[in-house]
Amino acid sequence: MDANATTPLLPEVVEAMRPFWLEAFGNASSIHQQGQHARAAVDDARDAVARLLNCRAAEVVFTSGGTESDNLALFGVLSPGDHLITSSIEHHAVLHAAEALTDRGIEVTFLPCTAQGTIEATALLAALKPNTRLVSVMLANNETGAIQPVRELADLAHAAGALFHTDAVQAAGKLPLDVKALGCDLLSLSGHKMYAPQGTGALYVRRSVRLRPMFFGGLHERGRRPGTENVAGIVGLGKAAELARAWLAGEPSSVPGAHSAEALARLRDRLELGILADVDEAGVNSGAAPRVANTSNLYFDHVEAEALVIALDLKGLAVSGGSACQSGATEPSHVLTAMGLCEARARASIRLSLSRLTTEDEVDRAIALVPAAVARLRELSPKHLLLATHS
Ligand code: PLP
Repeated sequence: MDANATTPLLPEVVEAMRPFWLEAFGNASSIHQQGQHARAAVDDARDAVARLLNCRAAEVVFTSGGTESDNLALFGVLSPGDHLITSSIEHHAVLHAAEALTDRGIEVTFLPCTAQGTIEATALLAALKPNTRLVSVMLANNETGAIQPVRELADLAHAAGALFHTDAVQAAGKLPLDVKALGCDLLSLSGHKMYAPQGTGALYVRRSVRLRPMFFGGLHERGRRPGTENVAGIVGLGKAAELARAWLAGEPSSVPGAHSAEALARLRDRLELGILADVDEAGVNSGAAPRVANTSNLYFDHVEAEALVIALDLKGLAVSGGSACQSGATEPSHVLTAMGLCEARARASIRLSLSRLTTEDEVDRAIALVPAAVARLRELSPKHLLLATHS
């Protein structure tokens, strides 16, 4: 239950990619037939991603993933003297890029969030300045699943003459991603959060936006991202985009047991209610915010999330304590801290994230395993030992 860390490849994605590793392995820049075949496959994948985003194919730049897309968006449009507004709950791909930009003469403002982990229009209004060039706020948070009011924020940014970027990595394959409806100029995607391979991604760049490349080399991706294309990976991303579009339209999946969007939301709610029915001093972080259907961030007071993650892992349940991308770090989650959770509660929170392929049985197992593991850890926790000694 760690699909926000990465998703499995859908069988159709593997099948679409397979020939491009084996018999059809041409370089998409070669003039010969093998090269032209690879080029046609890249073009088809670009069309599929453009259909998912409701944009032109020429506005899609293939990258190595969400981190590169976020960096390209920020470094590609900002120059010394510009002001960047982003939020305190972004993924490190944006946060650390923003910090690096301050060393290059860019002024950065990090917007606070509400206790529910959402960014408010009033916070953005107060931060906009005449030199604000870019506003970057994610569409769905990776830790809590909270959906941000991107359209409203984008309208405010545009009214102030700024561009708007959204990191839609955790929204892709979960929410509609029509760039015109969202009102964004730049949008980041990552393949491995939407059933395509790790190391694939895309950046949508509205036609009128002038983007400087981060790398220098050939004229691939219209000069915006040089380097020989990862043809098989791009084909996989294109197939996943096509499947995401069909899934969002409610079309049945060819994978037996795969959930519809509504069924996934019901499954997550059943998981949450089932666990919380059996544990006290526990709750849902961002529980009152609009959330993507698959994500559940739960706190269990008096428990160390790290210990809980290990205990559950030993029982065969893979969950995350905060963001997987920062596991190994001892700091409490910056997202939960920004929401105003005290350090102890932030350190007592875990994330369960379901995929379209998570089964009812797996949810039943989690409903049994999590309360049992929490009870066991609480028995061992200093507070409970103290209470036991006094009673
Ligand atoms: N942005 C968000 C919201 C993410 O959740 C992640 C990965 O967890 C990234 C960006 C980075 O994407 P990638 O792993 O493809 O570099």
